[in-house]
Amino acid sequence: MKVLVVNCGSSSLKYQVLEMDDSSLLAKGLVERIGIEGSVLNHEKTGHDKYVLETPMQNHKEAIGHVLDALQSPLHGVLKSMNEIGAVGHRVVHAGEKYAGSVLITEDVIKALEECIDLAPLHNPPNILGIKACQELMPNTPMVGVFDTAFHQTMEPELYMYAIPYEMYSKYRVRKYGFHGTSHKYVSQRAAALLDKPLEKLNIITCHLGNGASCAAVKGGKCIDTSMGFTPLDGLIMGTRSGTVDPAIITFIAQKEGITEEQVTSVMLNKKSGILGVSGVSSDFRDVEKEAEAGNERCQLALDMFARRVKSYIGSYMAQLNGADAIVFTAGVGENDIGMREQICEGLDKLGIEIDREKNNVRGKETIISKSDSKVKILLIPTNEELMIAQDTVAIVGNGK
Ligand code: AMP
Repeated sequence: MKVLVVNCGSSSLKYQVLEMDDSSLLAKGLVERIGIEGSVLNHEKTGHDKYVLETPMQNHKEAIGHVLDALQSPLHGVLKSMNEIGAVGHRVVHAGEKYAGSVLITEDVIKALEECIDLAPLHNPPNILGIKACQELMPNTPMVGVFDTAFHQTMEPELYMYAIPYEMYSKYRVRKYGFHGTSHKYVSQRAAALLDKPLEKLNIITCHLGNGASCAAVKGGKCIDTSMGFTPLDGLIMGTRSGTVDPAIITFIAQKEGITEEQVTSVMLNKKSGILGVSGVSSDFRDVEKEAEAGNERCQLALDMFARRVKSYIGSYMAQLNGADAIVFTAGVGENDIGMREQICEGLDKLGIEIDREKNNVRGKETIISKSDSKVKILLIPTNEELMIAQDTVAIVGNGK
C-alpha cells in the first residue's frame, strides 16, 4: 500500500509518499509561504533532481492541489492517479487527553482536535486545515491522525500533574502532555530491534535532541515520563527555547523590562532563549561549537548547560525506571553531534553508562556506540517520524478501524 504523509504548519506543508510493502520513500517535498507572497513547492522524486514550482498558493487546499499534481506528473510524479494512495497519515500536534494512539479521522475526531486548539493555538489549526483540504481533494481515501502527544498518554497522574490547585487541571486541563511522541515511539521500537530484545522487556531513555529537544523514559514500550510539559517550552534547553525555568522569572522580567508576561513567554523564552540566548551567536549547534572552539566563553557555556540538562534528565529517568537498558540519541544534534554525545555521557560510568569514543565517531547511522561491557547500551538511531506515521496509518486502515 502507498501512504501519503502530510504535516501542515501555519504557512508550510511537508509531505512524503511511502511504499509500505518495503517501507521505501517514493517522493517527498515541502511547500513554503502558503498564503504569503512567494509561495513555493520543492518536490523530489527519490533519485531524481528537485522540481521547484513558484506560484501563488492562497491556502492549504491550493497547496495540496499542487502537491497532488506534482505526485501525478508524468515528469516528476510517482503515481498514475491518486487512487494508488491507500491512506493519508496526518501529523497532528495536540490531541489533549482524548487519544492515546493514532485514529481514523471522522467528524468526531476533527471536533475533538478543534477542542484542543486552545492547548496548541499555533499548531492544531493548520493541522486541521490540512486534514480538511485532503478530505475535499481525496474524498474516498481514509485519513488517519497521528498525534505528537499520544505516546505520552501512558504517564501516570503523579508524573503528569503539576502541584498547583487541582481546579487548574479540572477546569483548564493544565497538566504535562509531552511532545515528539512519534519520534520517541519510533526510536524505542528501533532500539529493541537493534538490541534484538523484546521491547516489552526494556527500559529505554530516549533523547530527541534537535532544534526542539525532549527526553522520555520508556518502560516496556510505554512512556512513563517525558521532559516537555503543558507546552513544548518545558524541559531541556533547546535551539531558541529556555526549557525549564523558575516560573517567577517571568513576572520579574516583565516588570523589569516593562513588557507583558505574554511577551516574556511567547517571544523571549520561546524564540530568544536556549542556545541562541546564552551564546548570543546562533541557535545552530554547529555555529556555536565553532565559536566555542575559537574561545567564545558564552558559546562554551551554552553547550555545557545543554549537556548538563540532558545529563540531569538521564539521571532522573534512571531513577524513575529503576535502571535503564539503553539510552538512545536521535534528531539533528543527537544523530550528528559527536562531541555533544560524548560530553553528555562523560562521567556516568558509575551508573553503568560508558560511551566508546571510536564507535561514537559516526553520524546519522543506526548503531551501538557504547563500550562492549557498558551495562547501559548507548544507541544512535536516526528518527523517522514520517515512517512511523505511515506505519501507524497502515495499522489503522488495515485493521479496518
Ligand atoms: P532537527 O530539529 O532535528 O532538524 O535538528 C536541527 C539541529 O541539529 C540544527 O539546528 C543543528 O543545531 C543540529 N545539527 C545538525 N547537524 C549537526 C552537526 N553535524 N553537528 C552539530 N549539530 C548539528
